[in-house]
Amino acid sequence: MEIEFIPLDALKEDKIYIKAIGLIRGVKVDYSTAKHISFSVQGDENVHNVMYFTEKPASKKWQCDCKWYTLQNKTCSHIIAVNLAIKKKLIKLEGED
Ligand SMILES: [Zn+2]
Repeated sequence: MEIEFIPLDALKEDKIYIKAIGLIRGVKVDYSTAKHISFSVQGDENVHNVMYFTEKPASKKWQCDCKWYTLQNKTCSHIIAVNLAIKKKLIKLEGED
C-alpha cells in the first residue's frame, strides 16, 4: 500500500511533534486491509487507535481516536508518531520486505 505521509516539516517546531518523538517506540500495526491500516499507539495513559484510509481525501486519510484529534480535528502526536515510525522503518507494513 502506498502511504501518503502528513507534511511533517511544517510541524517540526510544534510541541506535539516533540511529544510524538517520545511515542514512536510504542507504535504497532493492529491489522491492515487493501485500503486501510489500523495502528495502536501507547500514549501517556491510554492506547490510542490511529487509522489510515487510502481512499479518503487528504484531510481524512489519517484519523485518531484521541480527544485532541476528535475535538479539534487537528493532527495529533499519535498520528505524527505513526508517520515517523513508518518513515524510520520501525514498524513493518504488509507487503514490504
Ligand atoms: Zn491522537
